[in-house]
Amino acid sequence: MNFENSREFAQGLDLQDELRQYRSEFIFPKVKGKEVIYFTGNSLGLQPKRAKAYVDEVMNDWAELAVEGHFFADKPWWDYHERFCQPLSEIVGAKPSEVAVMNTLTINLHLLMVSFYRPTAKKYKIICEEKAFPSDQYMFQSQVKFHGYEPSDAIVEIKRREGEHNIRLEDVLAKIDEVGDELALVLIGGVNYYTGQVFDMKTITAAGHKYGAYVGWDLAHAAGNIELKLNEWGVDFAAWCSYKYMNSGPGNASGIFVHEQHHQDSELNRFAGWYGHNKERRFLMEPTFDPVHGANGWQVSNLPVLSMAPYLASVEMFAEVGMAKLIKKRNLITAYLEFILNEIDKEIESAQFEIITPSNQEERACQLSVYLHGQGKELFHYLMEEGVIVDWREPNVIRLAPVPLYSSFEDMYDFGQILKEGILSKVYDKAGNY
Ligand SMILES: *Cc1c(COP(=O)(O)O)cnc(C)c1O
Repeated sequence: MNFENSREFAQGLDLQDELRQYRSEFIFPKVKGKEVIYFTGNSLGLQPKRAKAYVDEVMNDWAELAVEGHFFADKPWWDYHERFCQPLSEIVGAKPSEVAVMNTLTINLHLLMVSFYRPTAKKYKIICEEKAFPSDQYMFQSQVKFHGYEPSDAIVEIKRREGEHNIRLEDVLAKIDEVGDELALVLIGGVNYYTGQVFDMKTITAAGHKYGAYVGWDLAHAAGNIELKLNEWGVDFAAWCSYKYMNSGPGNASGIFVHEQHHQDSELNRFAGWYGHNKERRFLMEPTFDPVHGANGWQVSNLPVLSMAPYLASVEMFAEVGMAKLIKKRNLITAYLEFILNEIDKEIESAQFEIITPSNQEERACQLSVYLHGQGKELFHYLMEEGVIVDWREPNVIRLAPVPLYSSFEDMYDFGQILKEGILSKVYDKAGNY
């Protein structure tokens, strides 16, 4: 498609947008009396209006039924988590028995590492990406130490090449070959949080399996954003948070995936709790743990129903829309944003910024990370004051994530105008040297 940097053209794209009615399902904060242009759905998704009704329902049931709500609420609390299995399995490409909603992301990755990181003297290394999300780095270090190994020896990072922003698939595969039989686990972010790079999970999973390693994925930036086929790809396990692309609200419940081939494996360690116990027998309070056959067998505690309620509202919306439509719009709106950025760069005739996200559509989703040259932080503050909500990542990157469910093409156009104005009037003047 030949894009144009004009309001009419952007409005035309909005008119053809199959998802346009979903924008009104979300609540946009206001700055200077105007709804913001929201680019941080990759950090905390906007509130879907449906979420409040789901939370209110639990609050009302609690008021009216108290303890009886566990069994007699319209959506009983004792098996509230099971409502996620079908819709969530469609979003991540799994069987319903392979997904569960519980706890929060880093906690879940720790619990899954209890099962899937079982180092021995000969096979103890973990491959991850360089500059992984800090929580993941701390997790790797503490897990490795917990098992009595040295992080500097046991954790092997895949590096970017000098002068490159993204990691090459061939380098991931070479690293797996290099570590070879010492490899116990590969655990990488499916979509890199900083650059927005999407990894070839199918190929990397198969490569790790060649050496008998387990392969897991941190899908914080992938769930609800890219097409996933976790079952088909043979991924051993995965986990994601729900508050980024999946709009569940701050710090809310996380999702996990455990491949069906592991469901009956009694050799796998796990840290057990009563909510992972045989559902029919849970309330018999028996002394011996008999896990549910499925990802729900990794549940530990009674459910945080209030934190699951907004997630359920959101998951149902995703199921209603389907990933195929989301991805179609995602590709178009991201390409349009990329076009706008390049147009602005041309118009101001000086290289003010550089998109570090892969330009190839197979290797990116909806995030574009932009490296700002010069007075980046000032431009960031200016954008925020003008109601463009972006985020800043050291040393000089703003991340822009147009979200298919609620961002409009006109937002992209407006953003371009605000950006241009900012660069010309503020940064340009103050820096003086451009
Ligand atoms: C957002 C994010 C997290 C956050 O973990 P929490 O336990 O939910 O705080 C972890 N890993 C990655 C890759 C993330 O992007």
